[in-house]
Amino acid sequence: MEYEVVVGLETHAELSTITKLFCGCSTKFGAEPNSQVCPVCLGMPGVLPVMNKKAFESAMKVALALNCTINKFTNFDRKSYYYPDLPKNYQISQNYYNLGVDGYMNIDVNGTIKKVRIHNVHLEEEAGKLIHPEEVGANYSLVDFNRAGVPLLEIVSQPDMRSTDEVESYMQTLRKILLYTEVSDCKMQEGSLRFEASISLREKGTEKLGNRVEIKNLNSMKSVIKGMEYEAKRQAELLDRGETIARETRLWDEVNERSERMRSKEEAQDYRYFPEPDLLPVLIDEKWMSEIKSTIPELPFDRRQRFMEVFKLSDYDASCLTEEKVLADFFEYCLSISDRPKAFCNWIINDLLREAKDRKLDIYNLPIKPKQLAALVETIERGIISSTIAKEVFSEMILTGKDPQKIIEEKKLVQINDEGFIESVIDKMIASNPNVVEDYKKGKKNALAFLIGQVMKETKGKANPKLVNELLVKKVGG
Ligand code: ZN
Ligand code: MN
Repeated sequence: MEYEVVVGLETHAELSTITKLFCGCSTKFGAEPNSQVCPVCLGMPGVLPVMNKKAFESAMKVALALNCTINKFTNFDRKSYYYPDLPKNYQISQNYYNLGVDGYMNIDVNGTIKKVRIHNVHLEEEAGKLIHPEEVGANYSLVDFNRAGVPLLEIVSQPDMRSTDEVESYMQTLRKILLYTEVSDCKMQEGSLRFEASISLREKGTEKLGNRVEIKNLNSMKSVIKGMEYEAKRQAELLDRGETIARETRLWDEVNERSERMRSKEEAQDYRYFPEPDLLPVLIDEKWMSEIKSTIPELPFDRRQRFMEVFKLSDYDASCLTEEKVLADFFEYCLSISDRPKAFCNWIINDLLREAKDRKLDIYNLPIKPKQLAALVETIERGIISSTIAKEVFSEMILTGKDPQKIIEEKKLVQINDEGFIESVIDKMIASNPNVVEDYKKGKKNALAFLIGQVMKETKGKANPKLVNELLVKKVGG
């Protein structure tokens, strides 16, 4: 039988607020275990949570960016479960009134645009973290509550994805939205962004959804894809044998690249959700909502489309530039100075990005500012320096932060456009390379490139290469 795989994703993103969701403790990653805790996030009896407005607004921002309807009345609920890293024995989350519902996100799947529906976006608190000692024979675990109470955003998609390409694009697009809206640092290696996948199979061409299996412990986007492939295969084998798929939660084993049963699927009633009595409902009015809406920048998907349409950039170029908001901003800043989209694009994605990577710096922290890159591009476009010399000027700019005009002046790098002078150099080259000239006349095309190279070398790269080419062809006959 031929199956269709059906996937929905649950995404947890830690919000990068300074303090936790219900107390004033720091959320900074990597601190000494249990150094960022207080009676509230340790779940001591009698304490009262106080809502972090910034976290709530960040959550609203994402819900709006994902085209959700905002619940004007929203409340928090206790989700009861017992786990050593959850001192209160419940998590404050949203169940009956999610902050945002019925949204969608457009994703690009190999050039085709697909709409993935978002079931809901809600705000909750993070649990602590268990640390399992690696020493042989250790029979204990440690718990670090620094993470307990960090604001966590949960984004639940509808089961709208049908392939690994769609899942990959969904994860990448969502990650970029979270980065563009500046609500999360999305560092997967620090656990700030995590995905869980619900996977089921159904016979191709049928409507009814099969029993789904939830996979947890997917620590990277690569794991999500591998877990999905593994699970689809496992379920297909079971179905082929006439067995039914158990509704369960499975854990992804990264080392052995397989999933293992963790527990049968819990239902909402197992959590005994009830409204959190220590927090007031939050009422959202139009004014607050439009204030938050106004802080959402143009999102990466739209920005990429605009770069392609308005600046006639290729899909590849536009995707590279919009990969990070700072890059796209840098690009547009350059464009506000001079209208050379393709040239800026090339310098940014080839040269600036390479330098930034080498120096482990953000592009904005490099010594070259948009104004200087614009000036460099202008000197090339106006024929003041050649593109070869421009690379030299660029290296100097990176080292010193000097303006390109200054470097060109100091190092006397202005392009040579004097035809008489160039001709004299060409004559010299022709005289000392008679064999090459002969070869060229016999039809060996790359002999010309050699001669041009010699002229450029003689002029230390400063001769106008276009002029050299023209004059040389004229001399040796083209
Ligand atoms: Zn605290
Ligand atoms: Mn959750």
